[in-house]
Amino acid sequence: MHKGRNWIGGEWVPAADGATFLRRNPADPEDVIGEFPDSSPADVDAAVSAAVEGAREWSAAPAGKRADVLEAAARWLEERAGELVVELVREEGKTRAEAAMEISRTPRNLRFYAAEAHRITGRSFPADDGGIVYTRREPVGVVGAITPWNFPLNIPSRKVGPALAAGDVVVLKPSPVTPLLAQRLVEALLAGGLPPAAIALVHGGARAGAALAADDRVAAVTFTGSTAAGRSVHAAAGPSRRVQLEMGGKNPVVVLDDADLDRAARIIVKGAFGLSGQACTGTSRVVAHGAVHDELLDRVARAAEARVVGDGLRDGVDMGPLAADFQLAKFLDYIRIGEAEGAKLVTGGRRLDGDGFFVRPAVFEGVAPDMRIAREEIFGPVLAFQRASGFDEAVALANGTGYGLSAGIVTRDLDRALEFARRSESGLVKVNQPTSGMAMTVPFGGLKDSSTQTFKEQAGPSMMLFYTQEKSVYISP
Ligand code: NAD
Repeated sequence: MHKGRNWIGGEWVPAADGATFLRRNPADPEDVIGEFPDSSPADVDAAVSAAVEGAREWSAAPAGKRADVLEAAARWLEERAGELVVELVREEGKTRAEAAMEISRTPRNLRFYAAEAHRITGRSFPADDGGIVYTRREPVGVVGAITPWNFPLNIPSRKVGPALAAGDVVVLKPSPVTPLLAQRLVEALLAGGLPPAAIALVHGGARAGAALAADDRVAAVTFTGSTAAGRSVHAAAGPSRRVQLEMGGKNPVVVLDDADLDRAARIIVKGAFGLSGQACTGTSRVVAHGAVHDELLDRVARAAEARVVGDGLRDGVDMGPLAADFQLAKFLDYIRIGEAEGAKLVTGGRRLDGDGFFVRPAVFEGVAPDMRIAREEIFGPVLAFQRASGFDEAVALANGTGYGLSAGIVTRDLDRALEFARRSESGLVKVNQPTSGMAMTVPFGGLKDSSTQTFKEQAGPSMMLFYTQEKSVYISP
């Protein structure tokens, strides 16, 4: 069993009051992954104080040094990829293939941000008196990063990486569901030569996250998680500090009457049941044209039934367990809610025998737009089929929730695809691709309740703006 600690002021320490929590393997709750500090606001206060101290040294480090640390951390992770894959499967419940994808992506992210350290530039402007005005992009100071469990190495790397590249210091508060992988990221950065006070790690739950968001010394709060928690982070941070929120989704795939249905079914099943349905950009709704609805439903239901559910470390498994007991309870709740609302459960929706949090992926049909299973994020392998009589109704149904993270369309008609891209109320639009998956070089962020509409991009060329502040300097000759 791993004995986790907080990293504060250059030391691995327990919570000040000694409180701890256990993390267990969701495939086998008897298997204890580790014991971690259950941090209180006092621990967060100490972590922020240490980071404020650390900011002086790191903000003065040249770009080359900042890049070298991120490069070295990337190598450290790559050298341990085999062990990290197993830890990720045991801690979070991914399959081996899903875990290998995350473990291989994180070093690439860190290298991407290492290059960004060299690209932080200012601008210059002519002045009326023959002088010059120029801008400096400077670090913001202390960044508070609050992260979810579904990509426990990758999402923290997408916050800690750009912050450190910019010369900011970070206090990371990872999800209590996946504390070990967050700790590995911090270990990688320290092994890579990061000054000990340039990062702090505080384990724990909502109490620690809320204390971090509310601390005035934290100049910028970057949060990924549910819309409900994001709203509370936004309120705690107030109007004068930077806040970036990446939140939930209810992502649809529209399938038009000209679609190749085998291809559509593959795209839907990958988006809906990959990562056990626990991806923010995962597919949770299918809006199918009436002419292809029944045939598509049949193919998707058969593919759902064919998925092999089991411990992600076993060969041949397509879908691991849900990540936690609360995820299992939510899944079963929504199956009951969907049936009570009058939707028809076509397949799946039950727990497998045994102690692990394994479920059969569920497909509902006859889902009306006002039903809760059509509007609320379930964050599990539950797919709701909605029938549309034509293109306009399909677009309206696709846009018919408060969320706007990712939306897909499957069609051979390029005009329709482009019109869908124009009319979609989502930050990502995927044509003939699963709703999940994105590239680091491309802007990423949702519309409506899926993101804050300021500083929403975690990737792409404008991503570094959140982590730097611009100052204008006027010089007369
Ligand atoms: P969550 O909101 O329960 O928790 C996220 C993090 O916030 C955790 O570290 C948690 O301890 C902390 N937290 C919870 N309440 C808080 C509060 N009041 N104040 C401060 N911190 C608080 O989410 P989760 O269950 O860990 O993750 C699943 C959610 O994350 C889903 O809604 C999913 O859509 C979303 N998500 C979004 C993206 C994206 O990029 N849009 C990516 C991954 C996950």
